[in-house]
Amino acid sequence: MRNFFWLFFLFASTLLFAQQYDLVLAGGRVMDPETGLDATRNVGIRDGKIASVSASQLSGRRVIHAAGLVVAPGFIDLHQHGQNLASERVKAFDGVTTALELEIGAPDVAKFLKAKEGHSLIHYGTTASHLAARALIFGTPLPDGTILPKSGPATDQPATPDQIERIQQRLRDELDAGALGVGMGIEYAPGATRLEVIDMFRVAAERKLPVYTHMRSAGRFDLGAIQSVEEVIGAAAISGAPLHIVHINSTCLHDSLECLSLIEGARARGLDVTTEAYPYIAGMTAINSALFNSGWREKLGIDYGNLVLPDTGEHLTKERFEELHNSNKQQWVLVFANTQEIVDAIIPNPLIMIASDGAEGHPRNAGTYSRVLAQYVREKKTLTLMEALGKMTLMPAQMLERSTPEARRKGRVQEGADADLVMFDPQTIADHSTFEKPMEPSVGVRFLIVGGTALIDDGKMVDGVFPGRAIVGPGKSR
Ligand SMILES: [Zn+2]
Repeated sequence: MRNFFWLFFLFASTLLFAQQYDLVLAGGRVMDPETGLDATRNVGIRDGKIASVSASQLSGRRVIHAAGLVVAPGFIDLHQHGQNLASERVKAFDGVTTALELEIGAPDVAKFLKAKEGHSLIHYGTTASHLAARALIFGTPLPDGTILPKSGPATDQPATPDQIERIQQRLRDELDAGALGVGMGIEYAPGATRLEVIDMFRVAAERKLPVYTHMRSAGRFDLGAIQSVEEVIGAAAISGAPLHIVHINSTCLHDSLECLSLIEGARARGLDVTTEAYPYIAGMTAINSALFNSGWREKLGIDYGNLVLPDTGEHLTKERFEELHNSNKQQWVLVFANTQEIVDAIIPNPLIMIASDGAEGHPRNAGTYSRVLAQYVREKKTLTLMEALGKMTLMPAQMLERSTPEARRKGRVQEGADADLVMFDPQTIADHSTFEKPMEPSVGVRFLIVGGTALIDDGKMVDGVFPGRAIVGPGKSR
């Protein structure tokens, strides 16, 4: 009898061992930017978490052989506008496991979170939108499905003190609904005074949350990129809110390196200022927005012909521009305003996180991350693979830690971290999206694990799984 029990115990523990992990990624090149680990390891996943990173063999209910593949934290995109399935799909093939609308913010946080719950391929979240709050208080709420207001009184007029208070209250309510910070597209509301900007930073600071901002202006105008950086650094210093300046490439253009040195200076003085860029020479935005109020050609240093419609490739003329700018219909337009030299100088800068600013119509939606790995790591060799991964995983995760402690479990391949992982071939990963074919998926991502669930399996999208979960700020108790 005793022997029987002993045998039974041995048998049971062997069974237990055999099923120790739900999923094992065996023998891949595990790269973790925080610890610097870059070695062949086995990763054991259980209940959506990384339970083991080990040199010893692990057994699991499923084992994926990862030899020849890099196993890295899934990429975290702080700046993603396209939040539908088509965009989530191309983000996944680009290695992204989390894509957040932080630059501008969803116009209604509760509605955004509810619509995506159980329907998202990858993790999602949003800031509270200053532009939407302003439009609402001015009596012209944003039409469904849009995030940028049409140029008009709600964008161009200064708000009264009473309106500013009501905008602040709306932002507080949106933070209570789970926003990760305040999103401010200042260039899209040129009527906002310096004081209005500071007052919005103060709302973020009350909750110790960051402001993500598309700054007031580009270029070398009387009020250009340098003054715009000063404005938001000033507001951060005055209010105490952490500041994240989005797409420094497309706002600072020829002054990008100077803008980076301003940020470096602010950080050296103890301010919490961060930034990001995407690896393309063109931007994209709504043509009827206030970004194209009169003076835009001087501001951006470009002409009508540098504006291109994404669907048709049509280069605009003065007449066509005026027709579209004055229209109520929101039309995206590609804005060719930067040079390859500037983009190449920005991307490797240690302050730069990679963020896509993605939406349908621009190749950055589908190709940003693979493009950095192909062009800057493999071809130009201006970044090491570990440095590039840091810009795509650890740095954005650390940025998110200002909003939620949950982010400490993201952007890492470590025991206890969330099992959001990308497995790709470093020799072949590449973007295939172009300005002509912007939704062409990237190649090279063989597996994408989102919260422990395989979303891309052996290079193919798995149908019918929606492992994306909300990432919310402290306002929403979970
Ligand atoms: Zn922007």
